[in-house]
Amino acid sequence: MPGFELFGEEERKHINDVMDTGIIMRYGFEGPRKGVFKSLELEKKITEVFGCNYAQLTSSGTAALTTAMAALGIGFGDEIIMPSFTFVASFEAVLSVGAIPVLVDIDETLTLNPDAVRAAITPKTKCVMPVHMCGSMADLDALKTICKEHNLLLLEDACQAIGGSYKGKSLGTIGDAGTFSFDFVKTITCGEGGVVMTSNKEVYEKCDGYTDHGHDHKGVDRGADLHPFIGYNYRISELHAALGLAQIGKLQTILSIQKRNNLILRSYLEQIPEITFRLTPDAQGDSYSFISWFLPTESLINVAIDELKEQGIFAGNFYWYNNNWHYIRKWQHLKDVQSLNNISEAQRAALHKLQTQDFSASDAVMNRCISTAISLAWTEEQVHDKGAKMAAAIKKAIAKESVEV
Ligand SMILES: *Cc1c(COP(=O)(O)O)cnc(C)c1O
Repeated sequence: MPGFELFGEEERKHINDVMDTGIIMRYGFEGPRKGVFKSLELEKKITEVFGCNYAQLTSSGTAALTTAMAALGIGFGDEIIMPSFTFVASFEAVLSVGAIPVLVDIDETLTLNPDAVRAAITPKTKCVMPVHMCGSMADLDALKTICKEHNLLLLEDACQAIGGSYKGKSLGTIGDAGTFSFDFVKTITCGEGGVVMTSNKEVYEKCDGYTDHGHDHKGVDRGADLHPFIGYNYRISELHAALGLAQIGKLQTILSIQKRNNLILRSYLEQIPEITFRLTPDAQGDSYSFISWFLPTESLINVAIDELKEQGIFAGNFYWYNNNWHYIRKWQHLKDVQSLNNISEAQRAALHKLQTQDFSASDAVMNRCISTAISLAWTEEQVHDKGAKMAAAIKKAIAKESVEV
């Protein structure tokens, strides 16, 4: 999955281009920068590769979500419907703009269950935010229909789905706005970074100003910029953008290695009748960065985990149900409202409610699910070996469990 596995001369070259001028800031310094604009170049590349009108780089994926929300006019008291399974960054961004995260159940797509979204809509709902977890996608047609019916914004957290698509369009370019993360472990990396993608010019111009203190970027020099609205500093640096430029040049290679390794490994898991796979609303659009699979029961998957661990081959497998970072069950700090500073009463009340909210439908999916991360470093031979060993361990677990029952 992570692009850092393919670091090489290309990354070094783009970074040296920046170091040769010494201008690490993306704006200004027109003379000394000698025509080197890595951030601008990467933004242009992103619009071409993923197919959107505009791209605004940011300092992180979390900053990209915050920026997108602000540019879409989401703020104090607005409710954003989001899934119970995601990285903590998704709700952090919601809270950062003063909005209220409304967490709802997922289904076997591992993201928003459209029926759960419908049931959570209130007069305060402003936005639906699917998170395309682990390289594959939400049921976007169903969510788009809901958004249209209720006049809601659709914001895609596509931070984990770089290179995935839905019905021919890149994930992250289908909603009113969408985001990628380029942090160190994502499919392509800037070290740290993110991007907001949109095809709406007004939304883009707001992102452009918001990420740079509200400067309008219309003055003849930075000092002459005006401030049509209040912004913050979520800028990316030229060094990070340089890394991203090298990486985006490797995207097709990354995706094809991922697909090859994914399909080989999957062919071993498919031989086990008890295993089922995550539902993909458009199977063609999977980015192949993970294989997410299920066993029929929680107890069986735990026997399988023990067996994989015992054989020393569990690394690279994620049992999200027990994971502190990605699933509601272990987000105690959120449920207990462990905020360093004061937050609004509306936010506090909504977070408290999470302590007693019933997520049994999500639990019933997550407690049987493992996602296996696909490495770019595996040779074909190694994947075959891995697949055979994994399948043998899982079969052994199934045999054990059936003896015990
Ligand atoms: C990585 C990630 C983010 C945030 O990205 P950072 O660049 O680490 O801030 C947001 N959402 C999801 C689902 C992610 O996986």
